Amino acid sequence: MAASLRLRAAASGLRYWSRGQRPAAASLAAVCSRSMASKTPVGFIGLGNMGNPMAKNLMKHGYPLIIYDVFPDACKEFQDAGEQVVSSPADVAEKADRIITMLPTSINAIEAYSGANGILKKVKKGSLLIDSSTIDPAVSKELAKEVEKMGAVFMDAPVSGGVGAARSGNLTFMVGGVEDEFAAAQELLGCMGSNVVYCGAVGTGQAAKICNNMLLAISMIGTAEAMNLGIRLGLDPKLLAKILNMSSGRCWSSDTYNPVPGVMDGVPSANNYQGGFGATLMAKDLGLAQDSATSTKSPILLGSQAHQIYRMMCAKGYSKKDFSSVFQFLREEETF
Ligand code: NAD
Repeated sequence: MAASLRLRAAASGLRYWSRGQRPAAASLAAVCSRSMASKTPVGFIGLGNMGNPMAKNLMKHGYPLIIYDVFPDACKEFQDAGEQVVSSPADVAEKADRIITMLPTSINAIEAYSGANGILKKVKKGSLLIDSSTIDPAVSKELAKEVEKMGAVFMDAPVSGGVGAARSGNLTFMVGGVEDEFAAAQELLGCMGSNVVYCGAVGTGQAAKICNNMLLAISMIGTAEAMNLGIRLGLDPKLLAKILNMSSGRCWSSDTYNPVPGVMDGVPSANNYQGGFGATLMAKDLGLAQDSATSTKSPILLGSQAHQIYRMMCAKGYSKKDFSSVFQFLREEETF
C-alpha cells in the first residue's frame, strides 16, 4: 500500500507520508494549500438525486469534473455547464486520478468498478477512489482489494443528510479506509459536507451508515404510528408534533422530517412524498442491516420488522415515494 501511496503522490504532484513520518503542522498546511490550488479534475459517477447536488458543490469549489452516468440525461446540465462528459467509468478513470461514485446499490457499484467498462479497466496507479453509495460493507472490502491490486486506493464514504443537505453542502460523511489517506479524501468531501468523520478500516463507513439508517427507519415508523394514533384520538397533528418535540418522544423524524402532511413545510410529506429518500432505498439499507445482523449474529428485532414494512410498502406501490410515506401506508392498512 505504501508504494501505491507514493505512486499517487507522484501522479498528483503531492507528497504522502507513512505514519510517524508526518511533517510538522505548518508544512502540512503548505502542502494542503498547494493541493487546493491545483484543482485537478475530479471524476464523478452517478448524478442522481444525491450525486447531482454533490457534484455541483465540487464545481462551486472550482474543481473541473469528468462525468459519467448510465442515464445520459443526468449528465446534460453538467455538459451545458462546460464539464466533460465521457461514455464509461473506465473513461473517467483514464482522465481523473480522484473519483467519487454515488450509485444506488452494491450491484451498481460492482458494475461501475469491475464491469466490462469499469473504473478498474483504466485506473491510474495511485488514484484515490471514494465510494459514497450506501452498499454492503463486504462489497466495499472486496472492491478495496481489487483496487489495491491495481496500485490505487479505495475508501468508502457513505453519507447522511439527504437531498437538502447535499444541496447545501452539509452532508455527514462516514469514512472507512487507510487512515493516512483520510486527509486527501477530506479535501474533496469537505466541499460537500460539514462533517467528515473517520470511522476506521474499509467498510466501517458503511457499517456506521447502516446502523444509522436502521435507527432512522425504526424511528420514522414509530413517529408515523404515534402521530396516527394521536390524530385518531382527536388531537390536532400540529399540536401533537409540538408536544412530542418538547417531550421525550422527540426525534429527527418528528422535529425535522415529520411524516404527516400539513405539519411542516419543505419536507416530502408536504409535497405528496415526492423527492427525498425513496422507500426502495430504505428497504435496500434495511436489507443490508439484516445481512450484517445475520453475519454478526446480532438481534435486530425492530430492524427486521422495519425491513418487512418497507418491503411491503414497495410491493404496494410506495417504492418511488419518500420513506416518510409510511404514515400514508399505515392509514391505508388500518382500514382492513
Ligand atoms: P438515484 O437513484 O437518484 O441516483 C443514482 C444515479 O446512479 C442515477 O442517476 C443512475 O442512473 C446512476 N447509475 C446507476 N448505476 C450506474 C452505473 N453502473 N454507472 C453509472 N451510473 C449509474 O440515487 P440517490 O438518491 O442519488 O442515492 C445514491 C446513493 O446514496 C444510494 O446508495 C442511497 O442509498 C444513498 N443515499 C441517498 C440519500 C437520499 O436522500 N436520496 C441519502 C443518503 C444516502
